Amino acid sequence: MHYFLDQDIKFLTGVGPKRAEILNKELGIFTFRDLLYYFPYRHIDRSKFYSINELNADLPYLQIKGKIIGIETAGDKRHPRLVVFITDGTGIIELVFFKGVKYIREMLKRGMEYVVFGKPSIFNNKLNIIHPELEEAATHQKKLNTPFQPLYNTTEKMKNNFLNSKAIYKIVAGLVQSMKTTLQETLPEHLVKEYHFLSHHDAVLNIHFPSSIETLNKAQYRLKFEELFFIQISILRQRKIRHVKSVGLVFARVGDYTNNFAKNNLPFELTGAQKRVVKKLRENMRSGRQLNCLLQGDVGSGKTLVALICALIALDNNLQVCIMAPTEILANQHFSTFTKMLNGLDIRLGLLTGSTKKKVRTSLHEALLSGELQILIGTHALIEDNVQFKNLGFVVIDEQHKFGVAQRSKLWKKSEITPHVLVMTATPIPRTLQMTVYGDLDVAVINELPPGRQKIETKHYTDALRMRLFGEIRKEIEKGRQVYVVYPMIEESEKLDIKYLRDGVESFIRSFPPPQYRILEVHGKMKQDEKNEAMLDFVNHRADILISTTVIEVGVDVPNATMMVIESAERFGLSQLHQLRGRVGRGGEKSVCILMTKEDIGTVAKKRMKAMCDTNDGFVISEIDLELRGPGNIEGTMQSGVPGDLKLANLARDGQIVQYARQIASKILDEDPFLEKAENTILAQHIQNQKKEVVDWGTIS
Ligand code: ADP
Ligand code: MG
Repeated sequence: MHYFLDQDIKFLTGVGPKRAEILNKELGIFTFRDLLYYFPYRHIDRSKFYSINELNADLPYLQIKGKIIGIETAGDKRHPRLVVFITDGTGIIELVFFKGVKYIREMLKRGMEYVVFGKPSIFNNKLNIIHPELEEAATHQKKLNTPFQPLYNTTEKMKNNFLNSKAIYKIVAGLVQSMKTTLQETLPEHLVKEYHFLSHHDAVLNIHFPSSIETLNKAQYRLKFEELFFIQISILRQRKIRHVKSVGLVFARVGDYTNNFAKNNLPFELTGAQKRVVKKLRENMRSGRQLNCLLQGDVGSGKTLVALICALIALDNNLQVCIMAPTEILANQHFSTFTKMLNGLDIRLGLLTGSTKKKVRTSLHEALLSGELQILIGTHALIEDNVQFKNLGFVVIDEQHKFGVAQRSKLWKKSEITPHVLVMTATPIPRTLQMTVYGDLDVAVINELPPGRQKIETKHYTDALRMRLFGEIRKEIEKGRQVYVVYPMIEESEKLDIKYLRDGVESFIRSFPPPQYRILEVHGKMKQDEKNEAMLDFVNHRADILISTTVIEVGVDVPNATMMVIESAERFGLSQLHQLRGRVGRGGEKSVCILMTKEDIGTVAKKRMKAMCDTNDGFVISEIDLELRGPGNIEGTMQSGVPGDLKLANLARDGQIVQYARQIASKILDEDPFLEKAENTILAQHIQNQKKEVVDWGTIS
């Protein structure tokens, strides 16, 4: 059996060398097995027919049955198209063909009944089906053994080589027919029995060719479960091992630094959520186990202060602290916040970024190594090999998604005992992702904003309302407030984007001429110190409008800025929009966010704009985001090394299966922590194999 499935795909009936090459390149299918595990994304119930008067362009692929009552050629000589009129008595619909016009015309018979399979869409302001599959109704009836036809994803290149969904369907059907033995079970037998799963074998066959909807559901459920369960079992096992093995520094004392700060320097009362989180972190850092915690809190929830208090506890225990920010602007800002907040406490702080001068750098290195420097704040520059600590005890990573796993682990290696790690993110992570991608981290949540914050009003304007926008900006500036204007910046088209930003700046200058209005510009193509200077000018209210690309996305704090204008907002992701919006509403004043888009944007983009207008809650936003992005597109939030290619499970929709899989995995591990029982050997084996493929994705360290 193994031998059979491991054969090169080119030897499979109906494939051959040429198609094999396409399958290799386009889908990564090399063996019979690969093809067997290439699952359909959907099934069509081919026993069900729609009637023509029910059709509309929102419906997916479907079937109708009808007689051809007319065939015409339209278009011009160079772009002819074939239009076929078909009726089923309830209405008439046009089938349109752009390719193979002559051939199809000759093949089709007027007056004959056909089964038409395709997707209704609007073309020339009319409802059509473009390039449907057609089959004589009589033939269709004869061939119908299972009514559920699987649909497989194919690429343009595949279609051009006659490897459409239907072709794949035939090849897979052939493969299944020639399979003589059963596929090995992948889950422990006791699990399959106890939870009434289909066997692995039945699930795989039925996911291609289900005998009924119920079996299809069961097959999908079983395979999704399996996928998610294996993730859970490795994450939870790794976590168990870490809990047993990891030695953490014990932060036994809370001493003068922390106490003096609380007594003399703390500028405001901590929010309830901040207190709760500080307490929890402090307990963990005293437990003897290494803290590896993801701190989530919406923009403006005061994460920095939590990090700062933990840092002081580290100092009280004679350990050093390092704080890593994703951008230089943000590192600078943290440095000045810390300097201000820690004023008078006699703490040595350092700032290390890409633009730190060589001389300063050298003396920083020395002071770190001697232990004299207590808190180092910086960017990626912190990771360089020549940055060495005397006794690093606590690491803070701000806005974690900008750093890769490998980069971070370089930081830990800087000390003998892994320091406590606090990863802070303002992008809330939906629960299912928390349990999978970030499954090994402890999670703490600040679910409360400091008092006095007002809801940021969010509006969606199309370009037609630009004059109104300018009017609103003018009013805001007259009140003495400042305004951000952000343009998208996407790397592939950097040149274009810069031009676009330039045009934007020019149009703003025309409407807001100096010296009455002061406009600043910050973008990625500027030198670092120019950027810093511009930011500083804005912070100190030496400008009214800051026009920038997304360099200001993370963390920047200018309480007097009360208006955020996002240009071409349709080009931003939802969490990015939310982040950007979080730059305003930081003072006591009412703030506004205006999303500018062109008139016609896609439906998904529209939903993003609506979500922004409807809610200020980052957690709600993150759930909607996951939903809109759908499966297979979550890699963006995933860290490198995580299996980004869940085949079937969809983290947005299968949250319940994730939870179920986690419960069951956890139960198994409680009873058999190291998977040593015979009945669980199969799991131990699986994890072993998986390890070979994927490098260490269960932990962030
Ligand atoms: P974020 O969680 O987005 O990093 P910050 O830590 O930058 O948020 O805090 C946002 C603003 O809220 C800062 O100006 C900070 O000084 C202020 N802040 C933080 N905690 C409190 C609090 N407990 N009460 C009042 N203001 C606070
Ligand atoms: Mg922050």
